[in-house]
Amino acid sequence: MSTDRYVVIGNPIAHSKSPQIHAAFARQTGEAIAYERLLAPLDGFEDAVRTFIATGGRGASVTVPFKLEAFALADALSERATAAGAVNTLRFDRAGEQVNIVGDNTDGVGLVRDIMVNAGVAVSGARVLLLGAGGAARGVILPLLAESPAQLVIANRTLSRADALVAQFAGAAQTLPAVPAVLSAARFESLDGNFDLIINATSASLSSELPPIPASVFGSGSFAYDMMYGAQPTLFMQMAAQAGAGVRDGLGMLVEQAAESFFVWRGVRPQTMPVYRELRAQLAAAG
Ligand code: NDP
Repeated sequence: MSTDRYVVIGNPIAHSKSPQIHAAFARQTGEAIAYERLLAPLDGFEDAVRTFIATGGRGASVTVPFKLEAFALADALSERATAAGAVNTLRFDRAGEQVNIVGDNTDGVGLVRDIMVNAGVAVSGARVLLLGAGGAARGVILPLLAESPAQLVIANRTLSRADALVAQFAGAAQTLPAVPAVLSAARFESLDGNFDLIINATSASLSSELPPIPASVFGSGSFAYDMMYGAQPTLFMQMAAQAGAGVRDGLGMLVEQAAESFFVWRGVRPQTMPVYRELRAQLAAAG
């Protein structure tokens, strides 16, 4: 049986957990794949991808800072990649000499699956607050809307970016007719009352900061999700827990988005919980 080759491309890339996750998925499913890290120069993403294709590569995960370039490079895009405006998964479909580069985005579905399936928290009918309007936030809007929340408020430091997302998704919502009534934009400081589900998709936690939200967004029945993960709870998770909210970090999202990418490439869905538990134990041991 020949081994199909995949990579995760980013810059930096040394700390990526994706090779470990995909190696575990391959062992579990018996799929014959090799998966490695590929450091691309900041101005050399397309060259790196084309060289990898020329040497037989079958697909790639794409991480910071190349998700927009991957979107631009793809010959064809999935609906969720189009909505997200970013690509985290490339598949190289071959027909003779021809290679078709297919771009997909699995981040949003990974988040929603971690919240609904792994944490058991409902999105349907929930009042949802999404903090941030960058690439990660943009990718989760469509999968969240598809679950019919009662409300989805997008709050961002730069309000115009949240406004632009509301306009984009309200305009593209023919398949989800209730969307214009559900979706709105806000400044952090003007948020009023509490929400059922609060998702931190800002990069504030990366620099141990907190978006300036009022503590009143969290109630005792709220669930707060930080896309960032680590050995210790983030400031955002600490603030939410103090208000009595349930909390979860983004490690499950990382594993779920990888599982969805694995499915895009191999047509096989790996089990995520054993891999999640292994990574969580490693994080705890390192912290
Ligand atoms: P971007 O750089 O595209 O966007 C950053 C966002 O954070 C913007 O909305 C920005 O606001 C906001 N922001 C940055 N600093 C602050 C601050 N100090 N206070 C308030 N808001 C701030 O980043 P991404 O969207 O790609 O990533 C966001 C986070 O999601 C990162 O922590 C990343 O690690 C995580 N992530 C996790 C994944 C997982 O699998 N767990 C997958 C993908 C991302 P403004 O518009 O005003 O600049």
